[in-house]
Amino acid sequence: MGRSAGTSWVLRRVRPLGGDPVDVVLADGVVAAWRPAGSTHAGAGGLPAGTTVLDTDGLILLPGLVDLHTHLREPGREDAETVASGTRAAALGGYTTVFAMANTNPVADTAGVVEQVWRLGLDAGHCDVRPVGAVTVGLAGERLAELGAMASSAAGVRVFSDDGHCVSDALLMRRALEYVKAFDGVIAQHAQEPRLTENAQMNEGTVAARLGLPGWPAVAEEAIIARDALLAGHVGSRLHVCHVSTAGSVEIIRWAKAKGWNVTAEVTPHHLLLTDDLVCSFDPVYKVNPPLRTAEDVAALRAGLADGTIDCVATDHAPHALEDKETEWAAARPGMLGLETALSVVIETMVIPGRLDWAGVAERMALAPARIGGLPRTAAEVWSSIAVGAPATVTLLDPAPWRMVEPDALASRSRNTPYAGRSLPGTIRATFLRGRPTVLDGKIV
Ligand SMILES: [Zn+2]
Repeated sequence: MGRSAGTSWVLRRVRPLGGDPVDVVLADGVVAAWRPAGSTHAGAGGLPAGTTVLDTDGLILLPGLVDLHTHLREPGREDAETVASGTRAAALGGYTTVFAMANTNPVADTAGVVEQVWRLGLDAGHCDVRPVGAVTVGLAGERLAELGAMASSAAGVRVFSDDGHCVSDALLMRRALEYVKAFDGVIAQHAQEPRLTENAQMNEGTVAARLGLPGWPAVAEEAIIARDALLAGHVGSRLHVCHVSTAGSVEIIRWAKAKGWNVTAEVTPHHLLLTDDLVCSFDPVYKVNPPLRTAEDVAALRAGLADGTIDCVATDHAPHALEDKETEWAAARPGMLGLETALSVVIETMVIPGRLDWAGVAERMALAPARIGGLPRTAAEVWSSIAVGAPATVTLLDPAPWRMVEPDALASRSRNTPYAGRSLPGTIRATFLRGRPTVLDGKIV
């Protein structure tokens, strides 16, 4: 991976944030210059020695994508995913930073485990890995984990979540919100009232009634979001709501923001595209938590993402081994792959219908998640313009071609994509991390 360190690149006739074409020079890890479109040739004057000119005619240049919600499964379930395989998938999807969820085995609830995950990310080198720390010891929801020790560790944890589980104890949630204020941390809540969702198998509604499956009601998500927003407002701390899935949740978040409380939220690509009638197939690839909802919910999520009520897209990339997924519905684990298809789903659901332009995509998929996750603020702000002097942490997208999703072609170690056999728009052609290519010609470097 070190072969290109110090190498310079010219992105010829590229379109920053979808704007007019320019030649963009990447050198010494930063965006070194913008030149008139097509003016730069190999061997042209003023270029550093060893410059490679890439024909990127018409490709969209975006800041490297940031995923606040990735399950990398290492340590513990390396048969489903590893830090190396998951970050390869991330780079191929245009990501340069992923936040790795804490529900590993052992759980990432100590400085030792978060530093282990962080080092595995450094060693793999495909993108930056920012570990998420557990809120409670062992995700058991009983007592707070070593939040301060994780924050001051080499991994510099700022996001804490028991994702997979809800911090359902209101007093524990209050204490966690209070604790992370000291280092500007954030609690990312998996909002699921446990008593209302015991044995739940899919969205509660007409489809569940017809199929005879126990329902996961929208109110079980909305009640927790409302409670947590009130707590965050009360203690003056930062709350982030994971994978918002219902129209009512969007309304509650809109209300909390209007109050001036520091509440942010994410939506997954699958909740922007897929609905609960897919469960009629009983194919466990459509089992996910929170579950796929109704078309009305999908419409509200798209509107909320467009108007900024929902701050960002996060994948909830959740790889599962075949034996955990290709089984009967009730026994299958919930979760879907997401890293390699997220941008394509956002193009289909938000860009093509005119709900977001490319600057909006950059905000929802790179800048907002960077701010929420506490990545260096100055860098995040500079990325927004991909201006000269910004880190050369960018991705290049060909928005036009539609491609068939083939599970066997994915870099993830797992195969549980809900888009198998479906055609999606857009292809990542290259990704750069601080001037070093991690993906070229659509392949891992
Ligand atoms: Zn979750």
